[in-house]
This record gives sequence, C-alpha cells and structure tokens, in this order.
Amino acid sequence: MLKGTFPVEKLKAVQTPFYYYDIELLKKTLGVVKAEADRYGYHIHYAVKANANPRILSVIAENGLGADCVSGGEILASLKAGFPASKIVFAGVGKADWEINLGLDEAISCFNVESAAELEVIDSLAAAKGRVAPVALRINPEVDAHTHAKITTGMKENKFGINLSLLPGILERLAQMDNVRLIGIHFHIGSQITDLSSFQNLAIRVNEIQEDLHAHGYAVEHVNFGGGLGIDYYHPNHLPVPAFDTYFSVIHRLLNVRPGQQIHFEPGRSIVGQCGSLISKALYVKEGETKKFVILDAGFTELIRPAMYDAYHRIENITSDEEVETYEVAGPICESSDVFGREVELNRVHRGDLLALRSAGAYGEIMASQYNCRRLPGSCFSDTI
Ligand SMILES: *Cc1c(COP(=O)(O)O)cnc(C)c1O
Repeated sequence: MLKGTFPVEKLKAVQTPFYYYDIELLKKTLGVVKAEADRYGYHIHYAVKANANPRILSVIAENGLGADCVSGGEILASLKAGFPASKIVFAGVGKADWEINLGLDEAISCFNVESAAELEVIDSLAAAKGRVAPVALRINPEVDAHTHAKITTGMKENKFGINLSLLPGILERLAQMDNVRLIGIHFHIGSQITDLSSFQNLAIRVNEIQEDLHAHGYAVEHVNFGGGLGIDYYHPNHLPVPAFDTYFSVIHRLLNVRPGQQIHFEPGRSIVGQCGSLISKALYVKEGETKKFVILDAGFTELIRPAMYDAYHRIENITSDEEVETYEVAGPICESSDVFGREVELNRVHRGDLLALRSAGAYGEIMASQYNCRRLPGSCFSDTI
C-alpha cells in the first residue's frame, strides 16, 4: 500500500489521539495558491472555520493571506495569529451585536451581510459609534454546487444569503443608510465542490448580476467568490495540492471584471485539508462473526465528518507492513454512527498500532467535541516534533 510519510518513531511518543500537521505541505500549498492567484491579481482570504489551530493560522498569516471569519471568536483568533484587521472579512447568518461591535472597533475590512435585518442592525450599531461599516451583500446565486446536501448553500431559500428577488429592495434601503457603505458582492455556493462546472455557472451568473447592478447605477469594488474548492480524499498521497490553477483559470476565462475591481476568494478546505492527519491508536481488534473490527481511541469527538456527512477519509496503518486485511474501523463513542469506514483495507492491525486518518486538516480538529466527557485532541507539527 502506498502510504503517506510520517515520522513514526516520534509520533509513537505523543499521547493519542492527536492531529499531526505537515507544515511543509501547508507551506507548499500556500505557495501554489498565492502564485496562481497572483497571475490574475486575485485576493485570498483563508476561511478560518476550516481550521483555527493557532500554529496553522500563524503560518497562513505569515504567508500574506487574509482571513474570512464567521464569528467574533474567529476574528479574535485571527488578530492574535497576526492577520491585520485590514485583511479580515466577517461573514455568517447570525452575527451577534458584540461580534458586529468587535468588527467595528477593530475596523475589519468588510462585513458580508446575509439579510436585510442584519443590514439594519449593522447600520444602527455603526451609527452609535459614529462609524461607517464597509459591507458586501451575500447573494444567493441559485447555482447548484453538486455536493453533499448538508454543505450546499447556493440554492433558493436556504438560510444563507439574500435571494435575488429581494436584492432591489435591499439596495434601495441601503442607499438611504448613512452608516453602511456598499463595497462588494459576495457568493459562496457550497463546499467540497469537485465539479468545476459549478464554478463556471457561478461566474456566468455573477456577470448577469453585475450587469443588472450596473444598469441600476450600482458599482462594487469587490466581487467575492467564497470558497468551496474540493480536495481529493481518495488520493492524498498522489495529489496533495489542489488544482488551484484550473480553478482560477476557469473563473478568469468567464468572469467579466470591471475596471478597478478586486476579485476575492475564501478557500478553507483546499488550503488545510491535506496537511492534517488524525493519529489514533488501535485499542482492540475485535473478531466478529463475519468481519473484524478495529476499535480506535479516536471517535467522532475528534473527527465528525464521517458521522455527519458520510465523508470518506483514507485510513492507513502507519506502524505495520504486514499483509492487508479488511476491517470495519470504529471509535469508542456510544453511538452507532461512530464508524470511520466499513470495509477498510489495512496492513494487519495489532493492539497499539497507530492509524492515520488522512486529509483531516479541514473541519477536523476545529469540530472536536467533549461528548462522553472526552479530552480534546492535541496537535503536533512536522517541523517541531
Ligand atoms: C465555509 C465557507 C468558506 C470556506 O469553504 P471551503 O469549502 O472550506 O473552501 C468560505 N466562505 C464562506 C462564506 C463559508 O461559509
């Protein structure tokens, strides 16, 4: 079996379960995304919700990306990691007053607004501080992302974004407000998108929306395409860096950029997904009647994606090269959804072996919980272990 490269002897000394991050791969990925974005002058804000581990955030900040935040906590974590406020944008359907006030006090670069009601609140909170809040409207473009139903966001009437039919009324109201200034339009159609035609459709739709805005006398400085580029969960060893080149070139080919306009992206998963693995110890090999189970010391408390989205993660036994056998790999949590894979081929497993759940850098550690009164997982890094 072709497996990832891990400093196995060093990992054996770390208390499991924990996240292991390949910092060289993260830096390589950041180098590629920046180089590809620079070709077209695109701006990148990393979507902090994918992984807010302080070390990961600081490596991303050092590489010059901005931060896309969806909570006050993420704004604070981003500032602490070294992202300048001028490169922080704030999205999310449920911004609390304290979070909006934090964004105003720190003078972040943009509030991505998801409803008329939120716009009113931002206007009044900004007025109370004698400030003018820069805002972008998150528009629901009605483009199908062809991805899992739990992570699609760009279709009609879901909680995200402003429906196209409501846009004219909101723009009219916005024109009467003194304490918000429209600087952009924002889109995010979903996550783990591997079919680039969804992004093609988005670019075409954005052209139509811009023409309409222009015809009504509105010009925006920023167009933000959100995130969503998928990664290859099946082949983390072959294709560790996502195809940012094709992604940006698809948008570049189709999008009509207006003079002076900035184009923004908010990738999360595609930046951090492949650099992280969840490392877990095999507690028991349990012989069933028809199959063998490996019971790990990690469960959905450490990595919830398989239980929540039926997501696939490649699993490797990094301490054995013995013959390959088929196992069901499960965690210790008292819920039947706590299964990482049902027919997993692994080098023969013994109690105490270390298993790596690959491609777990995005929506892994950050979604960990303490259900069953468990400890949160720790983390270690390839360059400091
Ligand atoms: C989640 C999210 C992203 C990042 O999505 P990925 O699929 O991780 O790239 C970007 N923008 C917004 C508004 C989001 O909600």
